[in-house]
Amino acid sequence: MFLEKNVDLVLLDMDGTLLDLHYDSHFWLEFVPSQYALLHRLSIEQATTYVFEQYKTVWGTLPWYSYDYWTETLGLDIHHLQHANKHKIQWREDTLWFLKKLKKLGKKIVILTNAHPSGIALKDQQTQLLSHVDLAISSHEIGYEKESTFFWEAVKKQLNTDFSRSIFIDDSEKILVAAQSAGVEYLVGINKPDSEKPVQAMQNFSTITEFKEFFHPHYQLLK
Ligand SMILES: [Mg+2]
Repeated sequence: MFLEKNVDLVLLDMDGTLLDLHYDSHFWLEFVPSQYALLHRLSIEQATTYVFEQYKTVWGTLPWYSYDYWTETLGLDIHHLQHANKHKIQWREDTLWFLKKLKKLGKKIVILTNAHPSGIALKDQQTQLLSHVDLAISSHEIGYEKESTFFWEAVKKQLNTDFSRSIFIDDSEKILVAAQSAGVEYLVGINKPDSEKPVQAMQNFSTITEFKEFFHPHYQLLK
């Protein structure tokens, strides 16, 4: 079996990989603009246009993932607001089964996330996900986003690994590219990060919908 044989260290993204991205999509694309509209007495359309413009200026950089940045920029208490829809925080389909299986196989499991520590804490409160992994590293602790090669250099040092027996799973193709440049041996995309949206293929990486695909007798990861 592929994972049993080739991998010791399993590196996992959180939002859209372990957890359903629907919570985050709804929060940032709908709930935050709606709260901004209320605060400034704007129409939803006006508020959405403005908020999305702000998003675009920092997309894919550390501030984009920072609750403090958005609290300051939008004048909304993101740390507090994130609790409003917390019932939407859910595992993806077979994540829990997968984490238990990895533990049984004796793999080291590390979450690598761009999520703000405050977001990780809320998600852990809802799912207890941290109890199923060895470690979670936030890009906010490292000081660089996962899209950056500096992030991967820092993780390499912290985990004392050369990534030769490592797999990294993420729903962002851009981040998979960064991990590949850093020498992570096996890279896999998630093609259905958001339960409410259709499957999306990746151009340069092999993808899965559910983790159980790794354990199919004929599974092969093409590199
Ligand atoms: Mg993700």
